Amino acid sequence: QGSCKYTGMVEDCCCDYETVNSLNADVLHPLLQELVTMPFFRYFKVKLWCDCPFWPDDGMCRLRDCSVCECPENEFPEIFRKPSNLVLTKDDLMCQEGKPQATVDRTLDSKAFKGWIEVDNPWTHDDETDNSEMTYVNLLLNPERYTGYTGPSAKRIWEAIYSENCPRYSSGEICQEKKVLYKLISGLHSSISIHIAADYLLDGTAKLWGQNLELMRDRVLGYPERVRNLYFTFLFVLRAVTKASEYLEQAEYDTGNHEDDLKTQSLVKQLVYHPKLQYACPLPFDEARLWQGQSGPELKLQIQKQFRNISALMDCVGCEKCRLWGKLQVLGLGTALKILFSVNGQNHLPEPLQLQRNEVIALVNLLYRLSESVKFVHELAPVAESMRGQV
Ligand code: FAD
Repeated sequence: QGSCKYTGMVEDCCCDYETVNSLNADVLHPLLQELVTMPFFRYFKVKLWCDCPFWPDDGMCRLRDCSVCECPENEFPEIFRKPSNLVLTKDDLMCQEGKPQATVDRTLDSKAFKGWIEVDNPWTHDDETDNSEMTYVNLLLNPERYTGYTGPSAKRIWEAIYSENCPRYSSGEICQEKKVLYKLISGLHSSISIHIAADYLLDGTAKLWGQNLELMRDRVLGYPERVRNLYFTFLFVLRAVTKASEYLEQAEYDTGNHEDDLKTQSLVKQLVYHPKLQYACPLPFDEARLWQGQSGPELKLQIQKQFRNISALMDCVGCEKCRLWGKLQVLGLGTALKILFSVNGQNHLPEPLQLQRNEVIALVNLLYRLSESVKFVHELAPVAESMRGQV
């Protein structure tokens, strides 16, 4: 039982569960795990303080862990910031939350975008070219985990996402493309729930963090559809990364440290051109099957609008850290959609791919989140299953 329940092809994808699990464990997860620690991939540019465009702020956070530790200015790689004489100390690399020296750099230096274009993503609500009010966040200091954000505020957001933007489908009733949007959101939701359960505050007094397998089972593992949607989303994003392989291989990963930058480039290359990936799962998802009908272009605009609404809803997330990861992962999904479905509106020819630095960071970090969730599911599903037997 357990993860053995998932056999055969991942629904609407071109690889089977066994292959995905072994490819992930042997190749993708280890490479991504290293990649996201590289300076280029660990600083995310984000606008965290935006008004919710749909209703007054009703955020409720019970834990201090809700707040995001931004980067003190002297923590960025040199190339990301204005000239400064500050020297980096070990203490600077620790979470700066609540410390007076946690000055936030909201002025972005154009050098940070050296070699990268500034272009808006049509799938997202935020204007990616607007740098005002932006701040850099060190993702390694702000792991996605349990924050205590729950209750009506969180519920309202998920409800708005599902009911207003991608209604649950019943088979035969909805077109393939809408089904894809629903599955992407549900897969992302599964991944967020898995990270909450995998890094949970087990004992507030003792500050003990660890895995909460019961929660993982109750929210995800006990629902095969949610697990299947997670695998689907993983393969969808993986396909976007491999489709953009040439772009990613040639991109500029300059952070001012030549050794780091070469390593980043090498890890990206290993990821997108790994022989096992090319051999075992060369086409994780086949996007060419979509938008074929007569109403294809119209449908795409409609779905793009729905996804932009989902992206706008991230400004309503009432917990800073959840908003950070929500925004990052929705931008990552928006980037995957842009890579897979960018065609010129007039003649339907593919547009030359142009990605923002921040889009690449979001895409790779999202892939890592999903990869980690798939690994947790594969390893922990049998354990959670056996727990059920003991109850
Ligand atoms: P919820 O997860 O809130 O789910 C609501 C309903 O959606 C469920 O009752 C079920 O009917 C349905 N549902 C659940 N999962 C799926 C799925 N995979 N597919 C389809 N339908 C599903 N909390 C944290 O502690 N840390 C975080 O980092 C964090 N990030 C968040 C990011 C966003 C964008 C949002 C909206 C919320 C975030 N939260 C976070 C809150 C968290 O997701 C839950 O809302 C909260 O823990 C309450 O969980 P719940 O059990 O009530 O169900």
